[in-house]
Amino acid sequence: MTHAKVIYLLIDGLAYQVAQHSMGYLLALCESGEASLHPLQSELPSLSRPLYETLLTGQTPVQSGIRHNGVTRLSHGPSLFGLAQQAGLVTAAAAYHWISELYNRSPYDARRDRFTQDPSLPIQYGRFYHQDHYPDDHLLIDADDLLRRHQPDLLFIHPMNVDDAGHQFGLSSPQYRNAARRFDILLSEFLPDWRAAGYQILITSDHGMNDDRTHGGSLACEREVPLFLLGEAFNHSPSAPPRQRELAGTLADLLGLEHGLPACPALLNPHWRPA
Ligand SMILES: [Zn+2]
Repeated sequence: MTHAKVIYLLIDGLAYQVAQHSMGYLLALCESGEASLHPLQSELPSLSRPLYETLLTGQTPVQSGIRHNGVTRLSHGPSLFGLAQQAGLVTAAAAYHWISELYNRSPYDARRDRFTQDPSLPIQYGRFYHQDHYPDDHLLIDADDLLRRHQPDLLFIHPMNVDDAGHQFGLSSPQYRNAARRFDILLSEFLPDWRAAGYQILITSDHGMNDDRTHGGSLACEREVPLFLLGEAFNHSPSAPPRQRELAGTLADLLGLEHGLPACPALLNPHWRPA
């Protein structure tokens, strides 16, 4: 193998200030030296669809034109999915339907798109959902099923229950914090298997949350998100702070792709070689 296999996990709406104390298993991996946690500042506006585009193309919302959640069209790319698929890698996603709309087909048609299996699409294997309360435990099983069936080179996983709790109860609520704690526990069931299968895992969020039960602006609680790095391909003490728009390009480097996306080489272990 000439490249890493990558899991890109986007926990929607998870503020850094909650992630830094609520994700007990991920923090245990940090204490053990297998993982590391870094603060990351989101681009603006701190809204979901614009930042999905940032996380997957390296473009800011101003650059991409995906300025708010109602811009329903395909990405103008290039995206991490498209670059990987064009290079002959296997791509998969268990994600909210806006991901299907940005990179596969727009508008989303649940009967056509919810279960996607089409090697000609940027996301070849998809399990897309369209309710914000679609349970995170179901979503993780969807992702695990994609991994077992297709051994994707790039697997994108995107749970929504933390963001959903934030919109119902706000940043400073037990419900929001408990949604994050629940996800961490659910994830701990799968992470050891995924690491044993050889995956390098990057876990982050699009934006945080505020006490008005929303997000979109420049408050620290809306903009500061976690970046967990898990695996030996990463440099866990980067000399330069990473930017949100550099994550797609950094993962493209791990996947061995030719690309022109902005990247943060300081996040990668220069001594690591694929097995
Ligand atoms: Zn939201």
